[in-house]
Amino acid sequence: MTPSLRPLLPFRALLLDADGCLFPSEAPAYDASADVTNDLMESLGVARRYTAVELRRDHTGRNFRATAPLLAAENDVALPADVLEHWVAAEKEAVTAHLARVLRPDPEVGEPLRRLADAFEVAVVSSSAAKRVAACLEATGLAPLVPDGRLFSAEDSLPRPISKPDPAIYSWAGARLGVTGTEALAVEDSEVGVRAAVAAGFPVVGLVHFAPAGEAEHLADLLRAAGATAIASSWDEIAQDLLEDPDTVDGGRSALATGRT
Ligand SMILES: [Mg+2]
Repeated sequence: MTPSLRPLLPFRALLLDADGCLFPSEAPAYDASADVTNDLMESLGVARRYTAVELRRDHTGRNFRATAPLLAAENDVALPADVLEHWVAAEKEAVTAHLARVLRPDPEVGEPLRRLADAFEVAVVSSSAAKRVAACLEATGLAPLVPDGRLFSAEDSLPRPISKPDPAIYSWAGARLGVTGTEALAVEDSEVGVRAAVAAGFPVVGLVHFAPAGEAEHLADLLRAAGATAIASSWDEIAQDLLEDPDTVDGGRSALATGRT
């Protein structure tokens, strides 16, 4: 962990990004999303086709509702609002079904997150559709760690859907939880996500746990430049840093329980 998050203690809540933080959903989501994207391009009379890899490289952290108009503009075609709505629904369904099929529980996330959830209020703050995030939480066994009403989706929770990097979903979640600024810590794996949380006033730890092999260092630099307060390479690193008292030999006592800050 560089630097330690302990100076931020005590805060009350953890605001967790979902895709790429709680589960490695970005790659399989883009596999399913690229098929829908290319069907959309065909329906618009556009010859250009997009691979999952390039969509992921250029649009991670942005949802399909935000990406599709950018791709239409890039190809000089109009994308009317009602047409966009149709494709947003189609993409949501295809991606959710695919993720529910391929994601599995991962003890390297579940175990440290369980310890963190015992000490902090946990909320999920995502650009993705609520149904999709809920399906991923179920598939990965993390659903019991997120209390009812603590899943905030930029697609479904806001009066008007607006994706990160807009800070709206973080501000919305903060208002619902009654936390501002240093009363909460955000965890994000994308530049777009870090920018959203920072703009809403929350300190952010950039997590590179699921970064593809060889890309963690570069991603860490991007997240730092976007405003991340610290970088963590795993959930265990975050849990150890926040929960274990460095002065105790067994390291088992919570910094919160002992009143240390
Ligand atoms: Mg993410």
